[in-house]
Amino acid sequence: MTKRILVTGGAGFIGSHLCRRLWEEGNEVICLDDLCTGSAAHFADLKGQDRFTFLQRDVTEPLDIQVDEIYNLACPASPVHYQKDPVKTMKTCVLGALNMLELAGKNGAKILQTSTSEVYGEPLEHPQKESYRGNVNPIGIRSCYDEGKRAAETLFFDAYRTYGTRIRVVRIFNTYGPNMDPEDGRVVSNFILQALRGKPITLYGDGSQTRSFCYVSDTVDALIRMMAQDKTPGPVNVGNPAEITVRRIAEQILRMTQSASSVICVELPSDDPTRRRPDITRAKEVLGWEPKVPLEEGLEKTIAYFRTLA
Ligand code: UDP
Repeated sequence: MTKRILVTGGAGFIGSHLCRRLWEEGNEVICLDDLCTGSAAHFADLKGQDRFTFLQRDVTEPLDIQVDEIYNLACPASPVHYQKDPVKTMKTCVLGALNMLELAGKNGAKILQTSTSEVYGEPLEHPQKESYRGNVNPIGIRSCYDEGKRAAETLFFDAYRTYGTRIRVVRIFNTYGPNMDPEDGRVVSNFILQALRGKPITLYGDGSQTRSFCYVSDTVDALIRMMAQDKTPGPVNVGNPAEITVRRIAEQILRMTQSASSVICVELPSDDPTRRRPDITRAKEVLGWEPKVPLEEGLEKTIAYFRTLA
């Protein structure tokens, strides 16, 4: 059955893959984005097609349309972008959540919130389970995003308890793949572009901090499974439990691009989490999901994408 699905942030990195997948599955897709960090190029070929609509709008403005499902992704997600206008970032998280919850309520629609591993802050528990309440600095440079996303989770669960809104909440860990914004300062995009351009690879700190990288098709698959299931409102961690240091990812990208770039250490930004790895037991149980794409394969596809931009 064709569903009418709204994807906020649909012109962004994960949003663009999600819109395409939902559209290819035969759904009617409404992609909402203010293009502050997203790109119209990501859906250029979908524009004008049946069952695809683009709305250039800000999620902080109320919206009244008919929908069956809402995926709420709208928010600058990389530290460089969300720190540029931190007050706006908090507004996007909170007002965006409020507006979309209201829209879901009016329509009796299901609504999925893309929360983030950032709700765990500098984690004191490792790997991070959904039951872990996090260790977030409320007044640091990452707080606009971390606390904004935490407040959005609160709004979702209050709407669920108070009004019975049909919520789903996932916490997305680091994701990479084609359509990443070359300008958003993410580690994978930065390192690949630096390697391809023969520029020094910028390790923040000594590169001993860890992250766990999930290829975007796996992430999108988890979002769609989360929306489809009725067992839990969440939260459910979505990420790849394969943990790697930032230094090792630099070495792997240098090897795969056969680059002669040097590696330099620059200052570590404040509140940069030391370790991050999802415990995905719940995702396995509830969604029957775990990542399929190994890092090497995902990086190959991502490097091929960035070659077209370099
Ligand atoms: N990082 C780095 N060099 C870069 C960009 C990022 O060493 O050019 C580090 C950053 O300090 C962090 C990790 O890579 O420890 C992941 O950074 P990213 O911005 O991709 O995501 P997040 O910090 O939100 O996980």
